[in-house]
Parts: sequence; C-alpha cells; structure tokens
Amino acid sequence: MESEIKTHSTSSVQACQNCRKDFTIEPDDFAFYEKIKVPSPTFCPEFETSYAPDRPEIIYCESCYNAEVA
Ligand SMILES: [Zn+2]
Repeated sequence: MESEIKTHSTSSVQACQNCRKDFTIEPDDFAFYEKIKVPSPTFCPEFETSYAPDRPEIIYCESCYNAEVA
C-alpha cells in the first residue's frame, strides 16, 4: 500500500486503530517517520521506558498490546 507522506507543519490527532484512543503526532514525529521510511503510526505510541530496553518488538499501548498477544 502506497501512502503519501506529506510534510506536516502542525501536530495531528490520530485515532488508534486498535483501541480507538486519540493520540497526537507532532510535526517532528512525522519528519522522523519519513526519515526512517515508515508510515505515520496508526497505533497509539507507548513510552518505551516502561518496557525492558532489550525488547525489540513494537511498543503498543497496554490495551493494544493485550490485543496483539491475546
Ligand atoms: Zn491503542
């Protein structure tokens, strides 16, 4: 799926596709995602510091994580 990545000058509120929770993506975040060639996230982010740093998997919020592993 090709998704257009536009330059965002303002933050954007996205609804998590999994838990429907709104989360904000900052302009800097869009630039970062574009830099590492990934689309902007559709799942709400979670603070990685709450997880063991040696875990390579994608961090979801708790409800998303539970849905993923269930
Ligand atoms: Zn979520």
